[in-house]
Amino acid sequence: MDIRVAGIVKDYDGTAALRGVSLDIRTGELVALLGPSGSGKTTLLRVIAGLEIPSEGHVLFGGEDATGLSVQQRRVGFVFQHYALFRHMSVFDNVAYGLNVRRRAERPARDAIRRRVLDLLDLVQLSGLENRYPAQLSGGQRQRVALARALAVEPRVLLLDEPFGALDAKVRRELRRWLRDIHDRTGHTTVFVTHDQDEALELADRVAILNDGRLEQIGTADEVYDHPASPFVMSFVGDTARLPVEVREGRVLLGGTALDIEVAAADAGGGALYLRPTDVVLTNGDCSGLAGRVTSLRRTANGRRAEVRLDAGGNVLEVEVPTQRPLQVGDRIGLHILKARLFPA
Ligand code: ADP
Ligand code: MG
Repeated sequence: MDIRVAGIVKDYDGTAALRGVSLDIRTGELVALLGPSGSGKTTLLRVIAGLEIPSEGHVLFGGEDATGLSVQQRRVGFVFQHYALFRHMSVFDNVAYGLNVRRRAERPARDAIRRRVLDLLDLVQLSGLENRYPAQLSGGQRQRVALARALAVEPRVLLLDEPFGALDAKVRRELRRWLRDIHDRTGHTTVFVTHDQDEALELADRVAILNDGRLEQIGTADEVYDHPASPFVMSFVGDTARLPVEVREGRVLLGGTALDIEVAAADAGGGALYLRPTDVVLTNGDCSGLAGRVTSLRRTANGRRAEVRLDAGGNVLEVEVPTQRPLQVGDRIGLHILKARLFPA
Protein backbone atom coordinates (compact mmCIF):
# COMPACT_ATOMS: atom_id res chain seq x y z
CA MET A 1 0.00 0.00 0.00
CA ASP A 2 1.59 3.30 -1.02
CA ILE A 3 1.15 6.34 1.20
CA ARG A 4 1.00 9.97 0.15
CA VAL A 5 1.39 12.71 2.72
CA ALA A 6 0.30 16.02 1.17
CA GLY A 7 0.81 19.43 2.75
CA ILE A 8 0.34 18.32 6.35
CA VAL A 9 0.18 21.12 8.91
CA LYS A 10 -0.41 20.26 12.57
CA ASP A 11 -0.85 22.88 15.29
CA TYR A 12 -1.24 22.13 18.98
CA ASP A 13 -2.98 25.25 20.34
CA GLY A 14 -0.73 27.69 18.55
CA THR A 15 2.44 25.53 18.57
CA ALA A 16 3.29 24.29 15.08
CA ALA A 17 4.45 20.66 15.20
CA LEU A 18 4.31 20.19 11.40
CA ARG A 19 4.59 23.12 8.98
CA GLY A 20 3.59 21.68 5.61
CA VAL A 21 5.10 18.23 5.10
CA SER A 22 4.68 16.32 1.83
CA LEU A 23 6.20 12.97 0.97
CA ASP A 24 5.44 9.79 -0.95
CA ILE A 25 6.13 6.32 0.37
CA ARG A 26 6.10 3.51 -2.15
CA THR A 27 4.46 0.12 -1.68
CA GLY A 28 6.79 -2.21 0.20
CA GLU A 29 9.24 0.54 1.01
CA LEU A 30 10.89 1.01 4.41
CA VAL A 31 11.20 4.73 5.10
CA ALA A 32 12.85 6.15 8.23
CA LEU A 33 11.70 9.47 9.68
CA LEU A 34 14.87 10.93 11.13
CA GLY A 35 15.26 14.14 13.09
CA PRO A 36 16.15 15.60 16.47
CA SER A 37 13.79 15.47 19.41
CA GLY A 38 10.80 17.76 18.86
CA SER A 39 11.17 17.87 15.06
CA GLY A 40 7.70 16.36 14.52
CA LYS A 41 8.46 12.68 13.80
CA THR A 42 5.91 11.21 16.23
CA THR A 43 3.27 13.74 15.18
CA LEU A 44 3.74 12.80 11.52
CA LEU A 45 3.51 9.09 12.34
CA ARG A 46 0.33 9.67 14.37
CA VAL A 47 -1.18 11.68 11.51
CA ILE A 48 -0.42 8.80 9.11
CA ALA A 49 -1.97 6.37 11.60
CA GLY A 50 -5.13 8.41 12.05
CA LEU A 51 -4.47 9.01 15.76
CA GLU A 52 -4.08 12.73 15.11
CA ILE A 53 -6.20 14.90 12.81
CA PRO A 54 -4.08 17.33 10.77
CA SER A 55 -4.91 21.06 10.82
CA GLU A 56 -4.34 21.09 7.04
CA GLY A 57 -3.45 18.60 4.33
CA HIS A 58 -4.29 15.04 3.39
CA VAL A 59 -3.08 11.49 3.84
CA LEU A 60 -3.74 9.08 0.96
CA PHE A 61 -3.52 5.29 1.21
CA GLY A 62 -3.27 3.63 -2.19
CA GLY A 63 -4.43 6.84 -3.86
CA GLU A 64 -7.56 7.11 -1.70
CA ASP A 65 -8.06 9.92 0.77
CA ALA A 66 -7.71 8.37 4.22
CA THR A 67 -7.87 11.66 6.15
CA GLY A 68 -11.40 10.86 7.37
CA LEU A 69 -10.73 7.17 8.15
CA SER A 70 -10.26 5.82 11.68
CA VAL A 71 -7.22 3.87 12.83
CA GLN A 72 -9.11 0.59 12.38
CA GLN A 73 -10.31 1.51 8.91
CA ARG A 74 -6.77 2.39 7.86
CA ARG A 75 -5.56 -1.04 9.01
CA VAL A 76 -2.24 0.10 10.39
CA GLY A 77 -0.01 -1.90 12.71
CA PHE A 78 1.94 -0.09 15.45
CA VAL A 79 4.94 -0.59 17.63
CA PHE A 80 5.99 2.08 20.13
CA GLN A 81 9.16 2.68 22.08
CA HIS A 82 7.59 1.73 25.38
CA TYR A 83 6.16 -1.64 24.58
CA ALA A 84 2.59 -1.73 25.70
CA LEU A 85 2.18 -5.48 25.95
CA PHE A 86 -0.66 -6.72 28.14
CA ARG A 87 1.15 -7.81 31.28
CA HIS A 88 -1.50 -10.25 32.45
CA MET A 89 -1.58 -12.05 29.08
CA SER A 90 0.81 -14.70 27.78
CA VAL A 91 2.92 -14.04 24.71
CA PHE A 92 0.45 -16.15 22.73
CA ASP A 93 -2.57 -14.13 23.89
CA ASN A 94 -0.77 -10.83 23.30
CA VAL A 95 -0.11 -11.75 19.67
CA ALA A 96 -3.62 -13.19 19.22
CA TYR A 97 -5.30 -10.17 20.80
CA GLY A 98 -6.11 -8.20 17.65
CA LEU A 99 -7.73 -11.29 16.09
CA ASN A 100 -9.59 -12.39 19.24
CA VAL A 101 -11.33 -9.02 19.65
CA ARG A 102 -12.73 -9.04 16.12
CA ARG A 103 -16.46 -9.37 15.65
CA ARG A 104 -17.55 -12.98 15.31
CA ALA A 105 -18.23 -12.67 11.58
CA GLU A 106 -14.68 -11.41 10.89
CA ARG A 107 -12.86 -13.49 13.48
CA PRO A 108 -10.82 -16.40 12.11
CA ALA A 109 -11.51 -19.87 13.54
CA ARG A 110 -9.61 -20.87 16.72
CA ASP A 111 -7.33 -23.19 14.78
CA ALA A 112 -6.54 -20.52 12.19
CA ILE A 113 -5.68 -18.01 14.94
CA ARG A 114 -3.45 -20.56 16.63
CA ARG A 115 -1.62 -21.30 13.37
CA ARG A 116 -1.19 -17.62 12.59
CA VAL A 117 0.18 -16.78 16.05
CA LEU A 118 2.66 -19.66 15.98
CA ASP A 119 3.77 -18.68 12.45
CA LEU A 120 4.34 -15.12 13.59
CA LEU A 121 6.28 -16.23 16.67
CA ASP A 122 8.41 -18.31 14.35
CA LEU A 123 8.94 -15.26 12.11
CA VAL A 124 10.10 -13.11 15.04
CA GLN A 125 12.22 -16.01 16.37
CA LEU A 126 10.32 -16.56 19.59
CA SER A 127 9.03 -20.08 18.98
CA GLY A 128 8.60 -21.97 22.23
CA LEU A 129 8.06 -18.84 24.33
CA GLU A 130 4.30 -18.58 23.68
CA ASN A 131 3.36 -19.40 27.30
CA ARG A 132 5.68 -16.86 28.90
CA TYR A 133 4.46 -13.56 30.30
CA PRO A 134 5.99 -10.19 29.33
CA ALA A 135 7.81 -9.93 32.67
CA GLN A 136 9.69 -13.14 31.80
CA LEU A 137 11.14 -11.66 28.60
CA SER A 138 14.10 -9.39 27.82
CA GLY A 139 13.45 -5.92 26.39
CA GLY A 140 14.42 -7.06 22.91
CA GLN A 141 12.11 -10.09 23.12
CA ARG A 142 9.21 -7.89 24.23
CA GLN A 143 9.69 -5.65 21.21
CA ARG A 144 9.65 -8.69 18.98
CA VAL A 145 6.36 -9.78 20.56
CA ALA A 146 5.03 -6.25 19.96
CA LEU A 147 5.99 -6.55 16.30
CA ALA A 148 4.32 -9.97 15.98
CA ARG A 149 1.19 -8.50 17.57
CA ALA A 150 1.21 -5.61 15.10
CA LEU A 151 1.58 -8.03 12.19
CA ALA A 152 -1.18 -10.39 13.39
CA VAL A 153 -4.02 -8.27 12.02
CA GLU A 154 -2.45 -8.18 8.54
CA PRO A 155 -1.94 -4.43 8.47
CA ARG A 156 -1.67 -2.55 5.20
CA VAL A 157 1.00 -0.34 6.73
CA LEU A 158 3.41 -0.85 9.61
CA LEU A 159 4.29 2.16 11.78
CA LEU A 160 7.16 1.96 14.26
CA ASP A 161 7.96 4.80 16.67
CA GLU A 162 11.50 4.39 18.04
CA PRO A 163 10.76 0.72 18.72
CA PHE A 164 14.32 0.00 19.89
CA GLY A 165 14.83 3.32 21.66
CA ALA A 166 14.79 1.86 25.18
CA LEU A 167 17.26 -0.95 24.43
CA ASP A 168 21.03 -1.02 24.77
CA ALA A 169 23.27 -0.39 21.77
CA LYS A 170 24.22 -3.99 20.99
CA VAL A 171 20.63 -5.28 21.12
CA ARG A 172 19.54 -2.33 18.99
CA ARG A 173 22.03 -3.22 16.28
CA GLU A 174 20.91 -6.85 16.28
CA LEU A 175 17.22 -5.92 16.09
CA ARG A 176 17.95 -3.48 13.27
CA ARG A 177 19.29 -6.25 11.06
CA TRP A 178 16.53 -8.56 12.17
CA LEU A 179 13.84 -5.98 11.31
CA ARG A 180 15.35 -5.39 7.88
CA ASP A 181 15.28 -9.13 7.27
CA ILE A 182 11.63 -9.42 8.37
CA HIS A 183 10.73 -6.48 6.18
CA ASP A 184 12.37 -8.08 3.17
CA ARG A 185 10.42 -11.30 3.80
CA THR A 186 6.99 -9.79 4.51
CA GLY A 187 7.17 -6.74 2.23
CA HIS A 188 5.06 -4.42 4.39
CA THR A 189 5.11 -0.72 3.64
CA THR A 190 6.88 0.49 6.79
CA VAL A 191 7.51 3.87 8.37
CA PHE A 192 10.14 3.81 11.10
CA VAL A 193 10.81 6.76 13.42
CA THR A 194 14.28 7.24 14.91
CA HIS A 195 16.57 10.01 16.09
CA ASP A 196 19.62 7.79 15.46
CA GLN A 197 21.22 8.51 12.09
CA ASP A 198 23.15 5.22 11.97
CA GLU A 199 19.96 3.29 12.54
CA ALA A 200 18.12 5.24 9.82
CA LEU A 201 20.90 5.02 7.24
CA GLU A 202 21.53 1.33 7.80
CA LEU A 203 17.92 0.19 7.94
CA ALA A 204 15.87 2.24 5.54
CA ASP A 205 15.43 2.27 1.77
CA ARG A 206 15.04 6.04 2.07
CA VAL A 207 15.45 8.48 4.91
CA ALA A 208 13.17 11.49 5.45
CA ILE A 209 14.94 14.14 7.51
CA LEU A 210 12.74 16.40 9.61
CA ASN A 211 13.77 19.63 11.28
CA ASP A 212 11.42 21.89 13.21
CA GLY A 213 8.27 20.55 11.55
CA ARG A 214 9.65 20.67 8.02
CA LEU A 215 10.97 18.01 5.66
CA GLU A 216 14.57 18.95 4.83
CA GLN A 217 15.26 16.08 2.43
CA ILE A 218 14.14 12.59 1.51
CA GLY A 219 16.55 10.23 -0.20
CA THR A 220 18.65 7.09 0.00
CA ALA A 221 21.52 6.90 2.48
CA ASP A 222 23.94 7.77 -0.35
CA GLU A 223 21.87 10.76 -1.45
CA VAL A 224 21.52 12.35 1.97
CA TYR A 225 25.12 11.59 2.89
CA ASP A 226 26.83 12.60 -0.36
CA HIS A 227 24.37 15.23 -1.61
CA PRO A 228 22.87 16.90 1.46
CA ALA A 229 20.20 19.40 0.48
CA SER A 230 20.92 21.77 3.35
CA PRO A 231 23.48 22.57 6.05
CA PHE A 232 21.11 20.96 8.54
CA VAL A 233 21.16 17.62 6.70
CA MET A 234 24.93 17.78 6.26
CA SER A 235 25.45 18.34 9.99
CA PHE A 236 22.82 15.86 11.12
CA VAL A 237 23.93 12.78 9.18
CA GLY A 238 27.58 12.85 10.17
CA ASP A 239 30.34 14.70 11.98
CA THR A 240 30.76 18.02 10.26
CA ALA A 241 32.88 21.13 10.70
CA ARG A 242 31.62 24.50 9.54
CA LEU A 243 34.06 27.14 8.31
CA PRO A 244 32.76 30.63 7.54
CA VAL A 245 34.23 31.70 4.18
CA GLU A 246 34.05 34.40 1.56
CA VAL A 247 33.86 33.69 -2.16
CA ARG A 248 35.51 36.16 -4.55
CA GLU A 249 36.24 35.66 -8.25
CA GLY A 250 35.69 31.94 -7.95
CA ARG A 251 38.11 31.63 -5.04
CA VAL A 252 37.16 30.56 -1.54
CA LEU A 253 38.80 32.65 1.19
CA LEU A 254 39.11 31.52 4.79
CA GLY A 255 40.24 34.37 7.05
CA GLY A 256 41.94 35.97 4.02
CA THR A 257 43.74 32.76 2.90
CA ALA A 258 42.69 31.31 -0.45
CA LEU A 259 41.77 27.63 -0.23
CA ASP A 260 42.76 25.19 -2.92
CA ILE A 261 39.20 24.26 -3.94
CA GLU A 262 36.95 25.22 -6.81
CA VAL A 263 33.37 26.43 -6.55
CA ALA A 264 30.81 27.57 -9.10
CA ALA A 265 30.81 31.32 -9.82
CA ALA A 266 27.14 31.46 -8.87
CA ASP A 267 28.10 30.80 -5.28
CA ALA A 268 29.90 34.16 -4.98
CA GLY A 269 29.46 36.03 -1.71
CA GLY A 270 29.53 34.95 1.90
CA GLY A 271 28.90 31.39 2.92
CA ALA A 272 30.04 28.46 4.93
CA LEU A 273 32.13 25.48 3.98
CA TYR A 274 31.02 22.14 5.45
CA LEU A 275 33.60 19.39 5.81
CA ARG A 276 33.59 15.87 7.20
CA PRO A 277 36.67 14.46 8.97
CA THR A 278 37.34 12.25 5.92
CA ASP A 279 37.14 15.19 3.49
CA VAL A 280 40.53 16.50 4.66
CA VAL A 281 43.97 14.83 4.54
CA LEU A 282 47.35 15.74 6.00
CA THR A 283 50.01 16.97 3.59
CA ASN A 284 53.52 15.53 3.74
CA GLY A 285 54.83 18.29 5.96
CA ASP A 286 53.99 21.17 3.59
CA CYS A 287 52.40 23.93 5.68
CA SER A 288 52.32 26.62 3.00
CA GLY A 289 48.60 26.23 2.30
CA LEU A 290 45.92 25.50 4.86
CA ALA A 291 47.71 24.80 8.14
CA GLY A 292 47.16 24.57 11.85
CA ARG A 293 48.12 22.96 15.13
CA VAL A 294 46.93 19.66 16.60
CA THR A 295 44.99 20.38 19.80
CA SER A 296 43.85 16.85 20.63
CA LEU A 297 43.96 13.28 19.36
CA ARG A 298 41.67 10.34 19.92
CA ARG A 299 41.40 6.81 18.65
CA THR A 300 38.46 5.79 16.41
CA ALA A 301 37.49 2.35 15.04
CA ASN A 302 39.42 2.86 11.78
CA GLY A 303 42.10 5.39 12.63
CA ARG A 304 42.57 8.49 14.72
CA ARG A 305 40.81 11.80 14.89
CA ALA A 306 42.94 14.89 15.19
CA GLU A 307 41.37 18.12 16.29
CA VAL A 308 43.19 20.93 14.52
CA ARG A 309 43.06 24.65 15.22
CA LEU A 310 43.56 26.38 11.88
CA ASP A 311 45.87 29.40 11.52
CA ALA A 312 43.29 31.05 9.31
CA GLY A 313 40.40 32.38 11.36
CA GLY A 314 41.17 30.16 14.38
CA ASN A 315 38.53 27.62 13.37
CA VAL A 316 38.65 24.09 14.70
CA LEU A 317 38.48 21.12 12.35
CA GLU A 318 38.38 17.35 12.94
CA VAL A 319 40.54 15.29 10.60
CA GLU A 320 40.68 11.51 10.23
CA VAL A 321 44.36 10.46 10.17
CA PRO A 322 45.94 7.04 9.60
CA THR A 323 47.23 5.34 12.78
CA GLN A 324 50.72 4.82 11.31
CA ARG A 325 51.31 8.53 10.85
CA PRO A 326 53.30 9.79 13.85
CA LEU A 327 51.44 12.73 15.31
CA GLN A 328 51.35 14.46 18.66
CA VAL A 329 49.34 17.15 20.32
CA GLY A 330 51.04 20.49 19.55
CA ASP A 331 52.40 19.43 16.11
CA ARG A 332 52.03 21.86 13.24
CA ILE A 333 50.47 20.26 10.20
CA GLY A 334 49.44 21.17 6.65
CA LEU A 335 46.04 20.13 5.33
CA HIS A 336 44.58 19.44 1.93
CA ILE A 337 40.83 19.59 1.35
CA LEU A 338 39.63 16.75 -0.88
CA LYS A 339 35.97 17.67 -0.90
CA ALA A 340 33.75 20.28 0.69
CA ARG A 341 30.22 21.55 0.43
CA LEU A 342 29.64 25.28 0.17
CA PHE A 343 26.29 26.63 1.34
CA PRO A 344 25.41 30.31 0.99
CA ALA A 345 25.08 32.25 4.22
P1 ADP B 1 9.53 14.14 17.88
O1 ADP B 1 8.77 12.85 17.84
O2 ADP B 1 10.34 14.41 16.64
O3 ADP B 1 10.38 14.25 19.09
P2 ADP B 1 6.92 15.37 18.28
O4 ADP B 1 6.14 15.06 17.06
O5 ADP B 1 6.64 14.53 19.48
O6 ADP B 1 8.47 15.34 17.93
O7 ADP B 1 6.68 16.89 18.69
C1 ADP B 1 6.79 17.96 17.78
C2 ADP B 1 6.42 19.24 18.50
O8 ADP B 1 5.04 19.24 18.84
C3 ADP B 1 7.17 19.48 19.79
O9 ADP B 1 7.44 20.85 19.90
C4 ADP B 1 6.20 19.01 20.84
O10 ADP B 1 6.42 19.71 22.05
C5 ADP B 1 4.86 19.39 20.23
N1 ADP B 1 3.79 18.46 20.65
C6 ADP B 1 3.74 17.14 20.38
N2 ADP B 1 2.61 16.58 20.88
C7 ADP B 1 1.93 17.58 21.49
C8 ADP B 1 0.68 17.65 22.21
N3 ADP B 1 -0.10 16.58 22.37
N4 ADP B 1 0.32 18.86 22.69
C9 ADP B 1 1.09 19.96 22.50
N5 ADP B 1 2.27 19.97 21.84
C10 ADP B 1 2.69 18.79 21.34
MG1 MG C 1 8.86 11.14 19.10
